[in-house]
Amino acid sequence: MIKEGVLGMTHEEMKKRDEEIFRRMRASYYGDNVTWVDKMGVPFPLEMYKELFPLHHYVIGKESMDYWEELRETQWLRREEILKLQAEKLKKIIDYAYGNVAFYRKRFDEAGVSPADIKTVDDLRKFPLLSKDDIKNNDLTSHVEFDPGTMLHVHTGGSTAEPLEFNCDKKQLDYRLAAFLRLMEWTGWKWGDREMRCWFATAGDGYKYPEIEKRDAFLFNRIFMSLYTLDDESIPAVLQEIEEKKPYVMDGYAEIFNCLAEYMKKHDIYLKVNAIISSSQTLTPKSRDLMMKHFSCDVFDKYGCREFSGIANECEKHEGLHVNAENLVVEILKDGRPVEEGEIGEVVITDLNNLATPFIRYRVGDTARFTDRSCSCGRGLPLIQNVEGRIQAIIQGTNGRYLVGTFFPHFVKDMKGIDKFQIRQDKFGEAKIYVVKNKNYTEDEMHEAIEEFRKYLGEDMKFEVEAVDDIPLYRGKRHHSISTLDFKFNQ
Ligand SMILES: [Zn+2]
Repeated sequence: MIKEGVLGMTHEEMKKRDEEIFRRMRASYYGDNVTWVDKMGVPFPLEMYKELFPLHHYVIGKESMDYWEELRETQWLRREEILKLQAEKLKKIIDYAYGNVAFYRKRFDEAGVSPADIKTVDDLRKFPLLSKDDIKNNDLTSHVEFDPGTMLHVHTGGSTAEPLEFNCDKKQLDYRLAAFLRLMEWTGWKWGDREMRCWFATAGDGYKYPEIEKRDAFLFNRIFMSLYTLDDESIPAVLQEIEEKKPYVMDGYAEIFNCLAEYMKKHDIYLKVNAIISSSQTLTPKSRDLMMKHFSCDVFDKYGCREFSGIANECEKHEGLHVNAENLVVEILKDGRPVEEGEIGEVVITDLNNLATPFIRYRVGDTARFTDRSCSCGRGLPLIQNVEGRIQAIIQGTNGRYLVGTFFPHFVKDMKGIDKFQIRQDKFGEAKIYVVKNKNYTEDEMHEAIEEFRKYLGEDMKFEVEAVDDIPLYRGKRHHSISTLDFKFNQ
């Protein structure tokens, strides 16, 4: 994931140096003879956390704490003021990209647009869209020399993500952390409250720099729960861990919390955490309700991706996901135009901070439903009604219509005879359905479901059903629908 660190030191050198500094800091704070892991769970004062950058972060610095303060303020600005703030930042980034990235200069020239054309956020629409292929096939790095010590080189990969390489500069990373801290506060969390991060670990997925991660976790009062499998055998230990560690907030994949809550329902188990931040997958109303009931907590949906980290999050009112609008411009488009209230479109993002690899109108690969409403919390940050899943989860019909990825989990939850479901489309006009049956399964129910799909997708749509023993999670995600067909939202 993270290919290179910073500070011009090898990992070993940095570890040695930091350990010594850290040991002394710890001793002055808690007395001698305590190693830092012993005191896990004793929250550090925020001031100390600030002072210890970059001991626990490679690139992110104290500035992030100032940005956090800033974002706390700007979230309450009125919508027009936020748009103004965005326009100012946008002008700068477009100017910069035009002046310092040959790719953008050529693109803008070809499209007949210049940085002077940006006066409002709406003017961004004059600029061309950026695809993942554009990034793979061109060099988008700024030709300004950045000190490698102030950048993070990221490359995404694996079979769920397309391989992409890009740089994140310090300012972007600082703002990312600031936005994360703001989100944490929306859950009621305060500095020092314990966070438990749950994710699926796969072989070779480990952090390259675990020491610095551990240090940050310690200072932050964050604990990790890395899960390799989640089944009836492993779940009791996980629940016990939660009960013992008593996190204030848990964050991780929606699927993890859903699995846990399903198990808890089956065995009539109740735990108390205050908040769950659910991300990486669609959070269905059914699993939200289950989580709320069995963890007796509030559930916050979060939308993010590797390129920008947090994109939009729910606040305590849960009326949609507030875009981190000080950091990103999020457009939802169909056929090149912004969608209407309640309509689904493709998510296109412009990063307002990252100069190292500017992302301007980047097609992130997701679909979302737009809303122009304001949230009753009073924050001026614009809303996304909900995220509808990956574009690769869209099943196309023979009638020109399509079903988005979120359709299937909603639909399947009412089917009594099916434990797990996956629909896969590799060919236009056909789709294959994989099901894990239970004792209530009937051919009639399946037949009715297929008739229902045909209503949406066309009467001549072909479906083939195959019963399987399991539909495995991949990196913590169960995909209800997968398509390998090309789908063009914005030509
Ligand atoms: Zn709100």
